Amino acid sequence: MSQQAGRQENMICNKCQIPLTLGKVTLSYLGSKFPVELFRCAKCGLVYIPEELARGKMQQVETALEDK
Ligand SMILES: [Zn+2]
Repeated sequence: MSQQAGRQENMICNKCQIPLTLGKVTLSYLGSKFPVELFRCAKCGLVYIPEELARGKMQQVETALEDK
């Protein structure tokens, strides 16, 4: 049995070298905003945009890190 790394669970922030964690971010798309859960770096706030999203016509992505 070979060990396979999880697909999305083991993403590492290039800058901080720490694993990304799931968090709520707000995407801005064509003037409207909607919340989604994406992987982001808890340290520098980098958000990983999945390929499916990046391939869309998203022109602008804003992140709103809302910590309670
Ligand atoms: Zn980072």
